[in-house]
This record gives sequence, structure tokens and C-alpha cells, in this order.
Amino acid sequence: MTDKRGMVYILGAGPGDMGLLTLKAADCIRKADVIVYDRLINTSILSLAKKDAEYINVGKMPDNHAVPQDMINQILLDKASEGKVVARVKGGDPFVFGRGGEEAEALYKNGIQFEIVPGITSAVAVAAYAGIPVTHRDYCSSLHIITGHEKPGRDESFLDYEVISRLEGTLVFLMGTKNIDEICTKLIKYGKKGTTPVAVIERGTTVDQRVIVGNLEDISKKVIDEGISSPAVTVIGSVVALREKINWFPKGRLKGKRIVVTRAREQAGSLVEEIRDLGGEAIEFPTIRIEEPLDYRHFDSALRDLKNYKWIVFTSVNGVKSFFRRMRTLKIDIRSLAGIRIAAIGEATATELFKMGLNVDYMPADYTSKELLNGLAGLIEKGEKVLLARADIASNELSDGLKRNGIDFEELTTYRTVMDESMKSIVKEYLKQNKVDFITFASSSTVKNFIEILGKENIELLSNTKIVCIGPVTAQTAKELGLFVSAVADKYTVNGLVDKIMELSGE
Ligand code: SAH
Repeated sequence: MTDKRGMVYILGAGPGDMGLLTLKAADCIRKADVIVYDRLINTSILSLAKKDAEYINVGKMPDNHAVPQDMINQILLDKASEGKVVARVKGGDPFVFGRGGEEAEALYKNGIQFEIVPGITSAVAVAAYAGIPVTHRDYCSSLHIITGHEKPGRDESFLDYEVISRLEGTLVFLMGTKNIDEICTKLIKYGKKGTTPVAVIERGTTVDQRVIVGNLEDISKKVIDEGISSPAVTVIGSVVALREKINWFPKGRLKGKRIVVTRAREQAGSLVEEIRDLGGEAIEFPTIRIEEPLDYRHFDSALRDLKNYKWIVFTSVNGVKSFFRRMRTLKIDIRSLAGIRIAAIGEATATELFKMGLNVDYMPADYTSKELLNGLAGLIEKGEKVLLARADIASNELSDGLKRNGIDFEELTTYRTVMDESMKSIVKEYLKQNKVDFITFASSSTVKNFIEILGKENIELLSNTKIVCIGPVTAQTAKELGLFVSAVADKYTVNGLVDKIMELSGE
């Protein structure tokens, strides 16, 4: 149980690649009630959060400035004082130029419990993704991480460039892109050779990574010519030359591609994994979310009177999960299902029942309501009552059919589906910046929900994004709603979708 006094995890989320999030950080995000996050994090990690978690973006206020540090400290104190579990999510490592120390001090001063979860710092990882080992024993014996942008208003610099220039080790500058000319000039002035190799890596570890290589003399011009901007890491030293051999990223057939996956949270898994395996960046946009029924009275009386039924029909995995979750809550023994026959609409639903220790008595060969009905009509005997466990938004095809066949049945709403808006602002921001290559749709309902969540007025934002649908029905819905569909999968499966994306990417 959560401590009533609240808790703050000051955690590092790594430099961008979702896979560089530590297991511990992922755990903390999963259990947080409130997530306070910065500009530099990969916002896809927010999809790990609890569905009712509160998100606070302190990287950006309406005027585009970051929220001031004392205000962030206050947010942490306030939320923790309410007894909440807070994940304070920072880019890279929280203690490497991350101001995590200041936040921990504020929590300490106010007697709030906290833990520090170190992260993978950009200082090391971004260089690695550019094929540069920050140390290598044939090249250097030390590594120095330096800020290129000291605390504003400080009278005297902590940094002595005369000393820094004498260091033989690798120098890594964070936050130094704007001042790169000044940094290089000072290093040369105090004795570093103008030919010392330098690499500047922008948005390292992400699909937007760009690397430019030069030396102390010419790098600042290259940075300007290429339009490199923050966030970028500057690596100075002879190890930079190793990039010629070690350069390995990006890789994979979907490298450099950012793909939005619109499915219910519970179902996005395999497509997201496949995209990441192929080197692409997947952003989960769960358009719907499963919620409990508003009222359990009907549900509970059905479960208490299971002996009235001869059949239970399950039409979805979620239906199975909610049904058995409620049985457990009410402490109704699994043996009360003895003698009741069970039908499932398809393979996935049957597998979920199997996990509960139940084999289905009937599953249609074709996974549609129509087929299910046809099969059932022949199996149900006169006078046998059917319990139909379904979602609130299910179509009436099945119930109408049962009625037509004179079968006695009871409908049971085991869960509700509601619109999930949690990723709206994040995906909208990527679209505005023209950074989404593909959007995938795997059902008509997700297309409808997606448009409703994004807002019809924002459809224009999709003009540079390719839309790929799992099958012709979904594509038809997308077209009717005004979308331009770039492709439809040949096979109506997750693999079919991935194949199509690769084809459109020229792979
Ligand atoms: N705590 C962070 C650093 C915060 S300071 C860490 O440990 O990585 C912010 C600076 O980090 C940026 O100005 C940039 O220099 C660097 N940075 C963070 N993420 C980066 C990325 N993906 N690519 C390049 N530089 C990055």
C-alpha cells in the first residue's frame, strides 16, 4: 500500500530511446499517481502510466518558457503532501545537470520521502549512439562532463578554461550548442590543437538523431550551416575518430521512422514491439480505454444466480477479464460455473478463458457475431437460458439474433469503453512539427475515435503523414471521415501492417 505521506521518485528517463529507460524507472512510472515531466523526455514513456494518472508538463508553459524551479519544487511538495506517489521524470540522469539535487533538497527540507532513480545520461549514451566511446584506453584516460551554459547571473564562472584545455581526456559539453563558438575559441586559446576532433550530436538516440563531425576550428561553422539546435551534445577528443569504425546507429528497416499506433492500450503491444525491433519509433495512441461498469447491481445479481444459466457467451478478452475479476471480488467460487457451457467469439477470447482453467464448448470458425449466432442457435436447447457478457458499446447483432431465434437470454455489461485523450497533446505536437511518418489504424472504431479526439479542425495536421489501415473496412471508414489513406495491408494482421509500412518506406 502507498504510504499516506506521499512519495516522490526523482527519476532519469534516459536520453530519448524508450528502450533506455531502466526497469526501476518504468516501475515507478507505472505506480505513480502524478507524473511531473520535462521537455527532453520521450513522451511515449507516459503510455506506461496508470490510466488515471495526472500529467504535469513542467518543460513548457503556455508562453513556451519552462516552469521555474521553485514552482516545480512546490508542485512536488503539494502533490506528495496530498499523499500521492509522484514520478518526477527527467531526461538522462537526474543528477547530471538535471537539477535533481535541488529538488531532493527541497523534499528533504519539508520531510517528504523520496528516492533517486538514476538514468542513462546523454553525456555517455548520445555519444555511444554516434559510435563514439567516451573512453578508450588507447586514446584517453579520463572523461569530463561540462556545462556549456552556466547558471545565469553567476558572478564568476566555476569553469577555468585554462585548466580544461590542459586535460587530455574526452570533454563532453551539455547545453553547449549556442555557445559552441566561444567554447572552441577558448579551448584553442589555452592550448588545445585546432585539429582536435569534435562531434556534435543533436537529438541523440532518437529517430531524429543528427551527427556532425569536425574539429575545434571548423565545428561551429558546421553547426550553423547544418542548423543544429538544442538538445545536442558536443564531444571533444581523439575518441571522436572511432566513429568511422563504430558508427552503428540508426539501424533496422524502419530506422528514422516515427509511427503512431492507434489501438486500445491493452492491444497495442505486438505492433509496437515489432516497430521498435525494426528500429522505428512507435508512439502509442490508445484511443479507447476500458473502464468498469458504472453500476454493479445487475452484474452482481447475475453472478450470484449463475445457476439460472445454461450458457455463457463471451465476445471479447476484456469481457472475460472483467467477468472473472468481479467473481473474485465477490468471492464467488469458480465451481459455480459447473455445468454451464461456454462460448467464445474467437481465438483470443478462448485463450483468455483457458487461462482461467476453462475450455470453451463452442467457438465459431469465422470470428463474427453472425457465425457465432448461427452455431449457437443449433446448440442451445429449448428452455436453456443464455448469459451474454459484453461491452456497453457492442452492436446489437448478437442480441437481436438470439431474440429472433426465440432464445431466452440476459445481457450483461461487463465493462465500458471510453475515449482516451491522454496522448492527444503529445501526438498533436509531433504532428505540428511534421514528425510523424505513419499512423496505423486497425479498426473502424479507432479511426472514428482518433478523429474525434484530435478534432476535425486538426485533420490538416495529417497532410504530411501516411495513413496505413489494416483492412478495407477500416480504410473505408477513414476515407469517409476525410482522411487520405496511403495504403491498406494485404494481410489483415499486424504483420501485414508492418509489411506495408516497410514497402512505403522503400524497404
Ligand atoms: N540530465 C540530462 C542533461 C540535462 S541538461 C542527462 O543526464 O542527459 C540538457 C542537455 O542534455 C541538453 O542541452 C543536451 O546537451 C543534453 N541532451 C539531453 N538529451 C539529449 C539528446 N537526446 N541528444 C543530445 N543531447 C541531449
